[in-house]
Amino acid sequence: MVKWTEDQRDLRDGLAQWFTALNDGHLERDKNAVFDGDKWKIIRESGILSLPFEEQWGGLGQDLLTTMYVLEGLGHGSRDGGLSFSVTTHMVSTGVPLQRFGSADLKARYLPGVCDGTTIGAHAISEPDSGSDALKMRTTARREGDRWILSGSKTFVSNAPVADLFVVYARTHPDGGPLGITAFLVERDTPGLTVGKPIDKMGLKTSPIAELFFDECAVPAANVIGRPGAGFLVLDHVMKWEILCSFIVNVGEMQHRLERCVDYAKQRTQFGKPIGSFQSIANKIVDMKIGVENARRWLYETASRLMNNENVTVDVAISKLLASEANLSSALAAVQIFGGNGYMAEFGLERDLRNAVGGTIYSGTTDIQRNRVAAMMGL
Ligand SMILES: Cc1cc2nc3c(=O)[nH]c(=O)nc-3n(C[C@H](O)[C@H](O)[C@H](O)COP(=O)(O)OP(=O)(O)OC[C@H]3O[C@@H](n4cnc5c(N)ncnc54)[C@H](O)[C@@H]3O)c2cc1C
Repeated sequence: MVKWTEDQRDLRDGLAQWFTALNDGHLERDKNAVFDGDKWKIIRESGILSLPFEEQWGGLGQDLLTTMYVLEGLGHGSRDGGLSFSVTTHMVSTGVPLQRFGSADLKARYLPGVCDGTTIGAHAISEPDSGSDALKMRTTARREGDRWILSGSKTFVSNAPVADLFVVYARTHPDGGPLGITAFLVERDTPGLTVGKPIDKMGLKTSPIAELFFDECAVPAANVIGRPGAGFLVLDHVMKWEILCSFIVNVGEMQHRLERCVDYAKQRTQFGKPIGSFQSIANKIVDMKIGVENARRWLYETASRLMNNENVTVDVAISKLLASEANLSSALAAVQIFGGNGYMAEFGLERDLRNAVGGTIYSGTTDIQRNRVAAMMGL
């Protein structure tokens, strides 16, 4: 396991001062599906959004592992899983591809706003007819002089209702396969782009989601991220970061949930004994412990290997699968350990369970991760 330095610990401990304000009213916000601008302001002030970006753009210049370590702290301290999901979506959707593949001009124009959170980011990959099979996307972009004209629609775009900036993946070559996709940076007020109404969903209710519609939407050629035709490369890089950053937040949440369950199992008595003394409850808690340790190790180990430029295709798939399923089992176990209380909204555990279901779907479903591992094994 990684040994964290004092600087890294200080960075993570520094978050603690914001949690009381961040958590205030989190159950109400979940109930009413509210993305609260004031809470986003707190997130901005905390500096967490700027962690992995270069200092010249207002970033903190931290590496992937340090960024994840602080994000794990966010998951542990913040009870608003939807807001945390919006944080990681913002960070990885726009900032990460801009920093890695953006031109100097694009970085200068957009990274400062991404780092300080005044510009909220989102990314649009999925379409009504292409989710798991993302390369079958139908949204197209055709070149006209110094502009690209986007036509089509996207769905399930997290942050869309509040986003200022979208990274949109569109087909620029009809038969190019992976080489026929290009990534575009599109400002919200670009003529021809319409953002749909927020879509109600099962969990992560404080992280808004919507469709995007492109009707002859003209984007400057300079807004291509990387090169035309290299969108799949951009997406591959972004997906690795998305999985590592968003699921390490879940690890923090799982650790917090485990601590709650241990406390509850010690103080709640039935049949004259603490319920933790019943083996069936203790076993559930032990499985929660194994799940969180396993997920944490896989995520950090994979991030270390990625930082060493190793091929982590299989590791990322296994990490995502393990972490999302462990989070779901942990959330379900917590509801059961708390009994009737676990089922009541005021304890926040049924909300965690609803949130956790999403994790088995976004960033590639469990089935798709298994397919990836199978393909890498030559099956
Ligand atoms: C909370 C949330 C946030 C999201 N945020 C974003 C976002 O910000 N931007 C964005 O672009 N998208 C986003 N998505 C969309 C997400 O990426 C897709 O839902 C996901 O990729 C699955 O695609 P689909 O919904 O079309 O399901 P489908 O691909 O239709 O899959 C349906 C079922 O079939 C299974 N299946 C499909 N193909 C195979 C196969 N080859 N082998 C075995 N099983 C298979 C799947 O595992 C699944 O169980 C989000 C989704 C959720 C739930």
